[in-house]
Amino acid sequence: MISNFNSKEQVVTYLKNIRTKHLEDLKKKVIKDTKILIINIGSNDASRIYINQKVKLCEALGIEVIVGNLEAKVTTDDVIKIIENGNQDPLISGIFVQIPIPKHLDKERILNAISPEKDLDVLTNVNMGKIINNEENHLLPCTVFGIFLLLEDLNINVESKTVLVIGRSQIVGRPLIMELINRHATVLCANSYTTNLEQLITEADIIISATGQSFQFKKDIFNQNQIILDVGIQRMDKKVIGDFDYNYLCDTVKFITPVPGGIGPYTILGLINNIISLKGVK
Ligand code: NDP
Repeated sequence: MISNFNSKEQVVTYLKNIRTKHLEDLKKKVIKDTKILIINIGSNDASRIYINQKVKLCEALGIEVIVGNLEAKVTTDDVIKIIENGNQDPLISGIFVQIPIPKHLDKERILNAISPEKDLDVLTNVNMGKIINNEENHLLPCTVFGIFLLLEDLNINVESKTVLVIGRSQIVGRPLIMELINRHATVLCANSYTTNLEQLITEADIIISATGQSFQFKKDIFNQNQIILDVGIQRMDKKVIGDFDYNYLCDTVKFITPVPGGIGPYTILGLINNIISLKGVK
């Protein structure tokens, strides 16, 4: 099916239509009076954009979002107090701390203050442990959920495939690597210390990149059977671009997700899915 796309516009339209269907399905599952808390610390422009997208879609689905905008100079204890209030509020079913947070804060303590039952983006060690141990019904971080949903929409099963994950962050790379292992993929992992990335690319059936860097590899290391999922988002000359150049590679590989219009909107579907899952288990 994915060989049938002839242009970027066709890919974007296909993904948009299928996402609309997912949204309609999710809308039917939203339980009345669902409320979530998003904590945003400091004034990171990208974070504000992500949060606005989340709020817009949640509200369109009837989910109430409280955004706690905290000043960058806030203390770790103050953030934890706000999280604990959210944990104890029976009307709030999910809590999300937007990453990155300012460096002076104790990230480990803050994220693990979220009650695991309200942990919307798998930020706690408890919920990450459930992915590592492949516990039944474990949640996935929103982006990782979105990646697997997109693969499902494209009819791609990762079992026995060689998948290269570029990036090892807490919210994307690490949980993605673990979940790929759970789903019986052979996983290659790259980070900023990797010296043979080109070689790893040649070996992969599927390449999932989440770095925020612009890779400028020559076409000849890719092949016509490969799938590239580009999670990266960065702004360059007022344009939003991914880790890979879609226009440069789209004729070289079997399929590549565009940026914007690829993984990003699937991440939001992941958020809605997790909101519904957490509300459902209460
Ligand atoms: P982080 O900055 O936390 O992690 C980036 C990762 O990329 C690190 O593990 C880093 O390695 C690795 N990396 C950096 N440069 C290279 C390189 N040259 N070769 C190999 N690995 C490299 O970012 P996030 O995971 O939070 O986000 C990654 C990107 O994805 C960003 O552009 C972000 O905006 C985007 N994003 C998009 C989402 C979406 O919905 N589409 C959702 C979340 C993020 P090391 O560990 O060694 O430093």
